[in-house]
Amino acid sequence: MQSFKSQESPVTKKSYTRADWQGGYQSLTQEFDYWIDDIEGQIPKELEGTLFRNGPGLLDVNGQPLHHPFDGDGMISKITFINGRAHFRNRFVRTTGYLAEQKAGKILYRGTFGTEKPGGWLANIFDFKLKNIANTNVIYWGGKLLALWEGAEAHRLDPYTLETLGNEYFNGVLSAGEAFAAHPRLEKNCNQDGDEPCLVNFSIKPGLSTTITIFELNSAGEIVRQQAHKIPGFSFIHDFVITPNYCIFFQNPVTFNPIPFALGIRAAGECIKFQPNQPTQILIIPRFPQEGQEKIKILETQSGFVFHHVNAFEVGEEVMIDSICYQDLLKVQPKSDFRQVDFEASSPGQLWRFYLNLKDQTVRRELIDGRCCEFASIHPANVGRSYRYLYIAAAHAETGNAPLQALLKIDLQSRERQFWSAAPRGFVGEPIFVPRPGSEKEDDGWVLALVYDAAHHRSDLVILDASDFSACAIARLHLKHHIPYGLHGSFTSEVFEEI
Ligand code: FE
Repeated sequence: MQSFKSQESPVTKKSYTRADWQGGYQSLTQEFDYWIDDIEGQIPKELEGTLFRNGPGLLDVNGQPLHHPFDGDGMISKITFINGRAHFRNRFVRTTGYLAEQKAGKILYRGTFGTEKPGGWLANIFDFKLKNIANTNVIYWGGKLLALWEGAEAHRLDPYTLETLGNEYFNGVLSAGEAFAAHPRLEKNCNQDGDEPCLVNFSIKPGLSTTITIFELNSAGEIVRQQAHKIPGFSFIHDFVITPNYCIFFQNPVTFNPIPFALGIRAAGECIKFQPNQPTQILIIPRFPQEGQEKIKILETQSGFVFHHVNAFEVGEEVMIDSICYQDLLKVQPKSDFRQVDFEASSPGQLWRFYLNLKDQTVRRELIDGRCCEFASIHPANVGRSYRYLYIAAAHAETGNAPLQALLKIDLQSRERQFWSAAPRGFVGEPIFVPRPGSEKEDDGWVLALVYDAAHHRSDLVILDASDFSACAIARLHLKHHIPYGLHGSFTSEVFEEI
């Protein structure tokens, strides 16, 4: 079985130091609320709305270190743009687990990615209590601001104050503990709903077999369609893609051994084993199944691991999917310190295009870019549709695995690239493309990204001109503090701040 082999590269001078990179993995315990006044350049007047971001704000509980950043409590950052000014606010999601651990001043829960309660295996054995850490994504949909984590229900927040209002069950359609994944896809014009917007999301119920449930929500935030499918085997599925007719999931080749987890000697994430000789299964589920149509089609492709997709679209009988693929799954190692990771020892995420022929049931793939990359963004009107430009966080060097220090714009038509780098002392997070109001060209807008600046141990919000990407940033907003490396976020044209 062929796999996603990365190209070998000669040893070159590193674009970063590990000590600089580690600075972005310090907890931020404080909650802020201020107008940003330390700005290089100018915030475009037309840029109006709110950037919400989510990510682990704490990497320790009262000095007890977490084993993995994915186990960190969710902290929402909110940057409001109005009249050429910007306001910053951050607040932790007051989950049950966050409140209990802050009160106790110690770790009370086992983390999915290796964090253990103090006291060794005896303290952890047969403890299946789940801590909903609400740390992966944040969206504003149907008049609600929702913090998302794939293992459990969403938390609803006040979009003005970021105060936690409780769990969201969508008018009782979901029940307590039922998951609502962290990677919804927003279709701007849904044919089925009279070209109204539709938010599509899913949940994964893992086990010896896996149940995938798909939810479709209207613009009032109500679940209007729901379908569930049982898939053989254990699944580790974090993201998916949609087209006007399909939801598509990559079932990565992994197995799960529950015994060390049950015995309290390994976290759930440490019991997942990548299977390099097994194929990746591509699950294609019709969104609006017709009478007699097969409920699910499964195609196979080479072994590899995909956390995130970029987009998908249909051309006749073919579906194209752009995804970030790893040669294998980087194993969460027990008793290790994630801050000491050897970047060079693991394979980079690389951008691939998959061509699924639904008629012949074949899959062909093509490497679009071999540079180490993660966290892509596109024009929001093109989700599920044919598109030309994508923006993605990338390593500074062209080859090898390294921290994300740069942003790359790829023209999928001409295959031209534009590159902006924060190296040597800057480290970037997920870029978000925001269209200029009234724009018609696909790349007429801005790319917003948080950049950790190790030289000042603070984070900047960087605004780039998407159509002239390699030029200097239009504006660099210096925050008064750092924000620990985050995961995902979103932009809405709504403003939730008093001027
Ligand atoms: Fe993700």
